[in-house]
Amino acid sequence: MRHSVWGLALLLASCAHTPHTAPDLFAFNEMDMHLHCGLERPIPLDDWLSIAANDGRKVIVMLDHLELYRKSPEEYDAWLAEKKFPRWYPMREEGHRAFMADLDDAIAARPDLHLFKGWEIYEGELDTGIDAAAIAMSDIVGWHISPNNGREAPNGATLIKRATQVKELQKQFPIPMMLFHPFTMRIENLQRTAKAQGRDPNTITVEEYRFFKPGEQEELARILDGAPIAIEIGKTTGTLWLDPIVRESFIQDIRPLAELGVQFTVSTDNHYMIHTRQKFQPELYCAALGLTPENTNTLVHELIRQRNARRAN
Ligand SMILES: [Zn+2]
Ligand SMILES: [Zn+2]
Repeated sequence: MRHSVWGLALLLASCAHTPHTAPDLFAFNEMDMHLHCGLERPIPLDDWLSIAANDGRKVIVMLDHLELYRKSPEEYDAWLAEKKFPRWYPMREEGHRAFMADLDDAIAARPDLHLFKGWEIYEGELDTGIDAAAIAMSDIVGWHISPNNGREAPNGATLIKRATQVKELQKQFPIPMMLFHPFTMRIENLQRTAKAQGRDPNTITVEEYRFFKPGEQEELARILDGAPIAIEIGKTTGTLWLDPIVRESFIQDIRPLAELGVQFTVSTDNHYMIHTRQKFQPELYCAALGLTPENTNTLVHELIRQRNARRAN
């Protein structure tokens, strides 16, 4: 598989150092490429980031769901009452700007951390139209692959379609992009569907869980080759990992992607305080899936490179 110039430089740098992880390769638990820091943030941003930093994080993508800012005043009130989050930001473009301004302040206040600004955006906007002004404010975008509950679960065809669309969109926005939680969302859909049909989810087979059909992993790897697009392997993977049938399907779906040169990101997707109580230990499942410091640092290095380029201008 072809490596981009910066990927190759990274590999060479890591070989030139000790057999240990080179200083410029962040360990799995030092990176969180999906931390909810906006409307769904339980406490002030500096405290929220400190919790992550105290648990080992050095690189954080601070993001929020873009579609949350489209609520009517009544919908917003009802949502806050249900979710119990403080009222951090107004709706609409005013809210986008206020959120991004807070992220800029955090970046300035924490030079010890590599902090980046992002949006999590519903995958359907790749079909219906994107908010270009919002995307232009961010360093990186994560596309929320939906569980599509009650309908067909996400699968290889879904991901190939989304990867193709994201790659096309990068001609307009040459920033890194991520495909969020495709594999865990399929498991969620299938387990819910089984329960709704009165079927024991433990009877679901590896074959039913499998995300890809033959040939799809190769096709996806070809599309993603050389593009700054990564597939997220989030913390929920570690929970579902405890089920040996799910674990086997994850290994069959993800490991060949790693061998084909696909890039990944690791993340917590934390929103609530309760999410922070447990130590983030992605090493428990990442290695068996073929994830390495090299194939999970690619977007981090691209983010750092793009920021340095902007600051030099
Ligand atoms: Zn999501
Ligand atoms: Zn999320």
